[in-house]
Amino acid sequence: TIINPAQHPEVTQQLSENIILTTLDDLYNWAKMSSLYPMMFGTACCFMEFMAAYASRFDMERYGMIPRATPRQADLLITAGTITMKYAPNLVRLYEQMPEPKYVIAMGACTITGGMFSVDSPSAVRGVDKLIPVDVYIPGCPPRPEAVLDAIIKLRKKIANESIQERERTKQTHRYYSIPHK
Ligand code: SF4
Repeated sequence: TIINPAQHPEVTQQLSENIILTTLDDLYNWAKMSSLYPMMFGTACCFMEFMAAYASRFDMERYGMIPRATPRQADLLITAGTITMKYAPNLVRLYEQMPEPKYVIAMGACTITGGMFSVDSPSAVRGVDKLIPVDVYIPGCPPRPEAVLDAIIKLRKKIANESIQERERTKQTHRYYSIPHK
């Protein structure tokens, strides 16, 4: 039976109350931003503040974020602490082992620029974005847990406006330091 909505306005009314129209992008982004799984990753003192952000006072899990101990199950990497030249290949390998779509937050002066080690230390990487692409930066030494939460909110906004096609294109053209697989 074909119902003419002009003759049955109550049907149109009922449909508009019970059907939600959305795009695949919106649905996908909503699912992604509501269940970010960060990898437990810390190389120096910044990680203390990262852990504090997970404790009951700040409760980062309320954003649906469950920390993972393996890159295979994580889609968010928060680089909390200094990255050394010796450690750089391992960081890249961990990043490569994370499934797409994946995101990176650079936390603290050391990871963003090399921090105090950028003056004379030959061993500190002068910016983690020379190794892997970074989505959000958190300045500070160390940044407080509130700043970590603010970065999560910024990342969620960024994910909310992404398009699957665009993300695929950026992934293909992104050039970052890579190590050969054995
Ligand atoms: Fe430590 Fe400050 Fe460097 Fe963070 S930015 S790892 S708190 S020295």
